[in-house]
Amino acid sequence: MQKPVLHENISDGLISGENIFSGFPHFLSNIIDQKGWITVENAPIIELRGVAKFYGNTAALHNINLEIANGEFLTLLGPSGCGKTTILRLISGLEKPSQGELLLNGTNIADTPPEKRQVNTVFQNYSLFPHMSVWDNIAFGLKMKRLPPDEIDRRVREVLRRVHMEPLARRMPSQLSGGQQQRVAIARAIVNNPLVLLLDEPFSALDLKLRKQLQIEIKLLQRQLGITFVFVTHDQEEAFAMSDRVVVMNEGAIMQVGTSQEIYEEPENLFVASFVGDINVLEATVRALREDGTFLADVEGVEFPLRTQRKLKIGENVKVLLRPEDLTVYLSKEDALNPPFFTGKIEHTVYKGATVDIFLTLDNGKVLQAAEYFNEDDEDITYREGDRVSVSWIEGWEVVLDEEGG
Ligand code: ADP
Repeated sequence: MQKPVLHENISDGLISGENIFSGFPHFLSNIIDQKGWITVENAPIIELRGVAKFYGNTAALHNINLEIANGEFLTLLGPSGCGKTTILRLISGLEKPSQGELLLNGTNIADTPPEKRQVNTVFQNYSLFPHMSVWDNIAFGLKMKRLPPDEIDRRVREVLRRVHMEPLARRMPSQLSGGQQQRVAIARAIVNNPLVLLLDEPFSALDLKLRKQLQIEIKLLQRQLGITFVFVTHDQEEAFAMSDRVVVMNEGAIMQVGTSQEIYEEPENLFVASFVGDINVLEATVRALREDGTFLADVEGVEFPLRTQRKLKIGENVKVLLRPEDLTVYLSKEDALNPPFFTGKIEHTVYKGATVDIFLTLDNGKVLQAAEYFNEDDEDITYREGDRVSVSWIEGWEVVLDEEGG
């Protein structure tokens, strides 16, 4: 077999390579294209079809339909209690669905016990054995399977190298930092050559700086390994930073599945829009439909041209969603702002370092939040409480939802 070659280009987050891993060849044949770029294959490795889970009378999940592609980094994102962990427990086999089917690699695994599923989990608290060294923690499962010592040795060495923990192999867990323990927990899971790795809020015990560092590390590791990662978090920034696709959940149901950008820029409902960031929700009424697909609407008392793919009727009430950073706040009319625009006054501002948050009240009483970057060419621009302002946005940046926010 040809010696593996790995070219990492960390700056743009891509990794290319030829025959990258000798250790995990079965994951790679279908995810590396001819140029050596890792791609996510379309065939789902996991499928949930109409899955529901009840605990007594409580529905933890209802009618979940989800396909997870082989080699993808998928994140389940949602508030506490929305059913994220329940999905992981169903995939790992710790729970059985009350209804529906669960397929792993095309096979219904309803009756497959957890240890036969080629699925491993990294838990929040890592659950390392405190009395065993890093090496023994990683080797434990392989010893249980009674693999030959030289194979155990080779596989433990290989995963230690992957997680950059070779020099610390003899340390005990108590002699490791939180981040290092995290890496051991991942090493212990991937040494089993799983098809899927499940990660349940693995960073929740760590401080922000380390979290951010590990987010990048784990994403790179996932790319290198080519194993499907299903990651659980309630932190939208973490989900966006790491995932190929994000599944936003609420109350046991999937609200939206998409790339980070789709979820942020094209939320399908009000729950998703407000869960993944600050959002202004404006009330509007459709006034005229135009041939080019745009329409005119009365938005908080001012007529604006808007865009949407939705089929609308004249007179229909809609909600218009705008992120704070989509709004531009003009301090004076001399800025040659063409109508339409709102007018209002600044209530207060919050300094954020790179940006300033501006809270303002429109003349009709509606409160809006805007975020402006500091203008390095004009440091004199300051937003003060009580300033009269005009507010607008670039046509097409708005998201239009129905009256109920769906
Ligand atoms: P999340 O991971 O998003 O915080 P969970 O999947 O843990 O949510 O829980 C989903 C819902 O199911 C919650 O209402 C929770 O209280 C309930 N639940 C989870 N596990 C059990 C259990 N073993 N018995 C009863 N209810 C449970």
